[in-house]
Amino acid sequence: MDKPVRIAIIPGDGVGGEVMAEALPCLDWARAGGRDIQTLSLPYGAGHYLATGETLPEAAFADLRDGCDAILFGAVGDPRIPDGRHAEEILLQLRQGLELTVNFRPCHSPLPGHAPDLDIEVFRENTEGPYCLQGSTEPGRAVDLAIHTEPAVRRLLLAAFKRAATRKRPLTLAHKANVLKHGHGLWVRVFEELRRDHPEVASQGMHADALLCALVQNPTAFGVIAADNYLGDLISDLCAAYIGGMGVAPSISWAPHRPFRCSALAEPVHGSAPDIAGKGWANPVGMILSTALLFRYLGWEVEAIALEGAVSAALESGAKTRDLEGTLSTAAMGKAIRDRLL
Ligand code: ATP
Repeated sequence: MDKPVRIAIIPGDGVGGEVMAEALPCLDWARAGGRDIQTLSLPYGAGHYLATGETLPEAAFADLRDGCDAILFGAVGDPRIPDGRHAEEILLQLRQGLELTVNFRPCHSPLPGHAPDLDIEVFRENTEGPYCLQGSTEPGRAVDLAIHTEPAVRRLLLAAFKRAATRKRPLTLAHKANVLKHGHGLWVRVFEELRRDHPEVASQGMHADALLCALVQNPTAFGVIAADNYLGDLISDLCAAYIGGMGVAPSISWAPHRPFRCSALAEPVHGSAPDIAGKGWANPVGMILSTALLFRYLGWEVEAIALEGAVSAALESGAKTRDLEGTLSTAAMGKAIRDRLL
């Protein structure tokens, strides 16, 4: 018999809880099909922070790191905490603490017949760059430090080369090494080295500004795109627009070198969307497709395909939330997907 898989559930804030409520029955469905899944529900987010002052306590983080295999995450961010301190600490502790270097954001539209020729997959470095939250605000001057380390850059690029080779897709590195000579210079150096080791992959580096222009003019020319944390964030949101918007875009992050038992975190690309939170308008598709990515990461390909198929079948039948010009609530959309799970 398979070993039980222990998944930590962190719904977080805003629409995070609403979309998570539609993903959890997908775990029940996999369980009913024979997967041995245990869950650990964790309360961390704005409500917990405001009530206790805790973001993600050290002991809870250690339990999760050593006692879980993966995390299913909703979103964090709450207007009651305008500086976003709790969200930063939770996300940073998870991403950096678990060394989840690789953030994978596939951009294949789940909407039948929509952007059928688009096949972009963004590999975003997830722990460094200017998002390391080191810097200072001084009178008349502000500094944000961007840190890039060779092990993380190499891990991200290796994962991107591996994916491009397996799927026989072109690989593009987005960078600004012409200006950011040190940090992006490191990216280009490691990229050039790996290009020599992977002659089977059609690869090129591009300045990010030119890449964005080309991505708008001719998106189907791109395959795998690798980028640092900042550029990857921007590029993947642009790509989300091609596949139906923020509500449908999934992601998963992982630590290829597996330093801890807990080595993956699946979450939708969108944030906590305070503008629509509590209204039942959030699209659960991004969260449910992120759950499918987690199934695939765990080696449960059959379940991943079934879940992705159910999402497409539901959308094809006309089941849509408001962001896709439909009328369904978050819960009704979740049910429409589950009704099509074979
Ligand atoms: P973060 O910085 O945490 O990624 P953000 O401030 O960039 O978050 P989001 O919270 O992702 O922004 O929201 C961006 C826009 O997308 C908002 O207009 C929001 O309503 C919309 N949006 C986000 N998630 C969903 C969803 N699941 N369904 C429908 N619309 C969504």
